[in-house]
Amino acid sequence: VLDIVGLEKRFGTVNALSGVSLTVQEGEVVCVLGPSGSGKSTLLRCINMLERPDAGQIGIHSRGAGFDLAFGPAAPAVSGRELARLRSHVGMVFQHFNLWPHKLAIENVTEGLIRVRHVAGREAGLLAAELLARVGLGAKMMTFPNHLSGGQRQRVAIARALAMRPDVMLFDEPTSALDPELVGEVLQVLEDVAASGMTMLVATHEMGFARRVADRIVFMDGGQIVEIASAADFFERPQHERSIRFLEAVL
Ligand code: ATP
Ligand code: MG
Repeated sequence: VLDIVGLEKRFGTVNALSGVSLTVQEGEVVCVLGPSGSGKSTLLRCINMLERPDAGQIGIHSRGAGFDLAFGPAAPAVSGRELARLRSHVGMVFQHFNLWPHKLAIENVTEGLIRVRHVAGREAGLLAAELLARVGLGAKMMTFPNHLSGGQRQRVAIARALAMRPDVMLFDEPTSALDPELVGEVLQVLEDVAASGMTMLVATHEMGFARRVADRIVFMDGGQIVEIASAADFFERPQHERSIRFLEAVL
């Protein structure tokens, strides 16, 4: 469903991504692990074009529809329409939830449905209520974000992204800004989303989650994929010296 080929991204002299290629199958959960600065966020941000890749290709093919974007000096600029199309297929949840502070939890979920998807208000409200109930916030729909805990806000952000019915969901360290006691409730929601069959790419430092939920692990270092393996193989039989060192440091 998601095809990344030869992705490159430089920031000045830093090669944040050098030649990253990865295919994520429909319904697959892939966790992206690696030390700080290894390029995990840059990879996710390039996939939905919050950063413009310097070179490479991104393809998204799902439910009979699909499209491909190519980057590089000779590639044409990506149009606003293509960008909107890409973003409508790819949902993203960040470390910081970026909710609209002056909107209720339910309005945070309906906003995109109404404005971007042109869903009628009543229908959007019903879908949002269903999604908020699914992330355990049925009783908090009429609450403003600043009256919610960090874990609850992150669950609203997840419901908001799911509401757009993306083909792929990208999560960039969705629990790393949370107080430790709130991490579990958000990981549980992520696990539920995974179990629902969503295709997911998750950058995380939560090794227990990665081991339990990921189908495959992508281990990055220095802007490159060093190792791709099943979760069981990666954690029990890491092949690369850098993976071994990383696991020794974090486990
Ligand atoms: P972390 O685990 O700390 O979130 P990461 O694996 O997500 O790290 P990235 O944020 O992708 O790492 O950063 C990869 C490299 O690119 C780093 O060297 C970083 O300093 C650099 N970098 C990322 N974004 C920018 C930017 N906007 N401008 C300049 N350099 C950047
Ligand atoms: Mg990061």
